[in-house]
Amino acid sequence: MLLRRYLVYAGVLLLLVLSVSVGTKNVSSRELPDASSAGFVEKLYRLDCGHSLANDQSVWTPGENQGHSIEFSSTCWLVKRGNQWLLWDTGVPEATVNDPNGWSTLPKLIVYRLDKTLTSQLAEIGLKPSDVAYVAISHTHGDHIGNVGLFPDARILMQRAEYEWIHGSNGPNENVNQLMALARRLLGNPKGMRLIDGDLDVFDDGSVTLISTPGHTPGSQSLLVHLRNSGFIILSGDVVHLEENFAKSRVPSLNTDKRASVESMDKIRQIIKTYNATMFINHDKKQTDGLKLLPAFYD
Ligand SMILES: [Zn+2]
Repeated sequence: MLLRRYLVYAGVLLLLVLSVSVGTKNVSSRELPDASSAGFVEKLYRLDCGHSLANDQSVWTPGENQGHSIEFSSTCWLVKRGNQWLLWDTGVPEATVNDPNGWSTLPKLIVYRLDKTLTSQLAEIGLKPSDVAYVAISHTHGDHIGNVGLFPDARILMQRAEYEWIHGSNGPNENVNQLMALARRLLGNPKGMRLIDGDLDVFDDGSVTLISTPGHTPGSQSLLVHLRNSGFIILSGDVVHLEENFAKSRVPSLNTDKRASVESMDKIRQIIKTYNATMFINHDKKQTDGLKLLPAFYD
């Protein structure tokens, strides 16, 4: 009798320990959707938001590929939910489209080019920037926030940690300081700013969820969207740059926190498993080139 009671106590204790540890392992945040009852968005469009050439791949793959150049894609995504539009990242500044020299965030390392403006791509499906009610920002590197200024009336969704970081004291080196100064300039002071702490179910129905994935920068985030036919799709932000980096948990040297970067990759892996999700990696040009491009869409 006593033994049975002890076994019951032990079982309850084990359950408590498990639920607490799952909680701290991120994937049971209350904001994350219930896969069986989550709402849907109707369409997900990929926009070509630039491409870049970096002269030293080893910055993204420490210890390997030193001095090898690498091409990255820059990707924005447009989500249609009912008659609302949400844009995920805003890409390389539109002025770059006419610039024969391209544009750079770190001139010694990387040069961006832009083949089509964001505005012209929106127009292809009959939209103006003012039709976009929400602009969610994965993080404040210039190739992600280059066109926030096109959306002065939109609700801007970014992590509080990111906002405070770019407005805080200087970073550990000149590269980081340059990126922070550029971020302040490009972001400006949008009037519809909403600062977020951690994960967020944006529409309270599980259809669009911001996932906090710090490490690349202090307030980096990813986006989970739910589509009727495609299921759950996770848009990486810069939680990872290349499929191979994800497989190897490899952290770029420019990231602000190596340990947090690895934890965020683990969190994404858990989400992929929980939701049977597909991840689209923003800068992985090889993967990106094979994805649908506006006016085609995922539904
Ligand atoms: Zn970045």
